[in-house]
Amino acid sequence: MPAITADTLTLKPVAELPPSTTAWRPVRRVVATVRTFEGEGFPVRRPFPSTELALADPFLLLDHLGAVEYAPGEAKGAPWHPHRGFETVTYIVDGAFEHKDTTGGGGLITDGATQWMTAGAGILHDEMPPEQLIMEGGLFHGIQLWVNLPARLKWTPPRYQPIEAHDVALLSSSDGGALVRIIAGELDGTKGPGETWTPITLAHVSVAPGAKVSLPWQRGFNALVYSLAGNGYAGEELAPVPEGTMAVFGEGDAISFSADKLQDARGTGNWEVLVLGGQPINEPVARYGPFVMNTRAEIIQAVEDYQAGRLGTIPAKFMPHRTVADDAGAAGA
Ligand code: MN
Repeated sequence: MPAITADTLTLKPVAELPPSTTAWRPVRRVVATVRTFEGEGFPVRRPFPSTELALADPFLLLDHLGAVEYAPGEAKGAPWHPHRGFETVTYIVDGAFEHKDTTGGGGLITDGATQWMTAGAGILHDEMPPEQLIMEGGLFHGIQLWVNLPARLKWTPPRYQPIEAHDVALLSSSDGGALVRIIAGELDGTKGPGETWTPITLAHVSVAPGAKVSLPWQRGFNALVYSLAGNGYAGEELAPVPEGTMAVFGEGDAISFSADKLQDARGTGNWEVLVLGGQPINEPVARYGPFVMNTRAEIIQAVEDYQAGRLGTIPAKFMPHRTVADDAGAAGA
């Protein structure tokens, strides 16, 4: 798998947690994903928002992109559309996504890289598979996470953090059976490269068949384990978390999860999970498509500002272009 790999025996292990005195977080529930389409019509699996889980404060949305083996001409993306009031975090495990925006920024997010984009006061961007992936087809697998901003930060200027695959902080689980890639935030005293506006931890963990991972987890953070590929179990109670489902943990100091002994050999052979949590923002959420604010009045203002061109102008170098308005039914990825 192109996301960064390493020999776990050479890495610093996560400190062992005493089994009897650790306050293990219980698994509150395991939520299924809603299968839907984004942008020009690429399939996503969405654990939230859904009727089962409306919000995972401070997170607003999680889209699991693929894994899909595109045939030539099949790869799709999300042409020019606006955002305001939050952050979009795109982590590409396999394949590539190309990005352009109204600040003139752009780049390729590929094979283990992350783009952490703070939309803040407003931006327009274009998220598309690169020409080669469209022409030739190929493997595409990743996630997009929406992170809310508190009222005091919704008007912050747009900001980018390109995080390359080799930038992530690597740890092994205490028994060496799992590779932990910290993309942002802190885990067991080790800090990932991504800077977050509010306290958040985001990691991609590859768990060998039958191995168990125990991680200290910040009290006050929510705790979510999403199965990207393969099968495993969450918590000391071993709640099944098959591919495309997400465990939501309750209160405590630590989380644990274990890979099934049998994993699909067509994948990486490991259980691939996204582990995330953060301090809830605890503010009212008003959301409409690509805008997430605190009040309905601010949403109406965002729509008006977008229509008046106040969220940015597409730079001439990116012409000709298409916008979501060209695609019927697109809600803005
Ligand atoms: Mn977008």
